[in-house]
Amino acid sequence: MANNSARYVPFARKYRPKNFKELLGQEVLTKTLSYCINNKKLTGALLLTGIRGVGKTSSARIIAKTVNCTSLLNDDLNNAFPCESCKNCESFNNNNHPDIIEIDAASRTGVDDVREIIESSEYRPLLGEYKIFVIDEVHMLSKNAFNALLKLIEEPPPHVIFIFATTEVQKIPITVLSRCQRYDLRRLSIEEILVLLKNIAQNENLKLEEEALKIIALKSEGSARDATGILDQASSYIHNVSQQNDIITAESVNKMLGLVQISTILELIRLIIEGNTKEALKLLEEIYMNSSNLEHFVEQIADLIASLTKEKVIAGFHEPMYKNYGKEITDILLKISLSRLSILWQIFSNGTNQIKSSHNELITAEMLIIKAIYSCNIPDIENLLDKSSQIAEFNVEQTAPSTNPKTEINRNIFDFLKFCHGQNEMELYYVLLNEVEVKNFTEPLIEIAANSKISQEKNLKSMLHKWSGIEWNIVICKQDKINSLKQELLKKAKASEDFTVIKNNFPNADVSDIILKS
Ligand SMILES: [Zn+2]
Repeated sequence: MANNSARYVPFARKYRPKNFKELLGQEVLTKTLSYCINNKKLTGALLLTGIRGVGKTSSARIIAKTVNCTSLLNDDLNNAFPCESCKNCESFNNNNHPDIIEIDAASRTGVDDVREIIESSEYRPLLGEYKIFVIDEVHMLSKNAFNALLKLIEEPPPHVIFIFATTEVQKIPITVLSRCQRYDLRRLSIEEILVLLKNIAQNENLKLEEEALKIIALKSEGSARDATGILDQASSYIHNVSQQNDIITAESVNKMLGLVQISTILELIRLIIEGNTKEALKLLEEIYMNSSNLEHFVEQIADLIASLTKEKVIAGFHEPMYKNYGKEITDILLKISLSRLSILWQIFSNGTNQIKSSHNELITAEMLIIKAIYSCNIPDIENLLDKSSQIAEFNVEQTAPSTNPKTEINRNIFDFLKFCHGQNEMELYYVLLNEVEVKNFTEPLIEIAANSKISQEKNLKSMLHKWSGIEWNIVICKQDKINSLKQELLKKAKASEDFTVIKNNFPNADVSDIILKS
């Protein structure tokens, strides 16, 4: 039986861009370098930086191939691209161009390795016009190695071009940086990654659900290499599972990546908001038993909550990823406020680190969910701020000193205090709230107990008149121990249900003051 000896070429390599035209999303680099190459204005040292998989090494190879092509072409946008048929292009495509030297600085970091480069740079190129050194992960070079390179980078022989690539530009000495022309390769957008994935899928005759493509695009975080890698893996996975060219579903991609279905996460968020602890924990256990990675799962919850938050604040915003779940999302958004969403986001976003360092990820995830449910029971911060005076007032009504049934409607000491506050009679307001005990407040009589002479008696009389339009009788008796209105209000506020909920979530919370304002 004939052995099929052809080695499988991974998608990432098979679909590696071969010229500026195929290089996705890096317009600045393409335009600038096309101009420099067309006009022979290329400098001796280029630095390409960006996150993993955005095309740094591919760009370096494209530049190397393009500058040495002897029959350079231009498209209608003036982008330079190699002819693919000259001797240089042919040799490059066969991976044996003698003048293009690729070095991985991660394995060759020392000064001796750099000396080899320096020596080799003195010799003229064999085939092309330029001798090109592509140094990948250049930040890994030692300090001495960088120093040895400095002079050469500053004044390279006219036939030498250095192309450095790095993910960690901050680790490169400033002396080197200042001698290079720097290009920052940007992350690809989800839409750009989707275009790339669809092209490959079409070429490979792969059928994928739209949502499956979106999951891959989102998971790749803007890296073309990661995206093609996941697609490659998905194609092997589906062939292995079904032995035929079945459609690749969102479910199978999620399973392969250890991710949980979006509908399941939405269901969990709904249970959290509704305070259904029992069902929420049951759902979590099911997810765990399906061997999903709980760290990724908590990340997924945080990402989804971030999208919900954006939908809440930006009119008309819909994350394309969650397009099919409009109804579920609207239902959730109707039930939850912005401040709660932001608390939930904090819980789950911090939760990923807690899971990483936890001894038991299931227990940690359970605790996160319980905390989240509890946070949904806290009175809304925005309402709370509004209500703070109402809380006091609500409790105050019940503690108000006995009043005449005829006049108690809308007429009590607290209304009077608010009036004083509004009139800026702060001294009287302070004395009544803190220094005396109001034993009776029944129009037109006020009985006060105090442990020393009160200074505001005259003012009290005139303010009561101003407030009610009638003359009041003021009776003041001496009493050693007084129970001030402030003490009474604080006691009530601390015993309130609202404060209990706050205290449970923020154990250090305290009620330090009460203000009665109109
Ligand atoms: Zn060529």
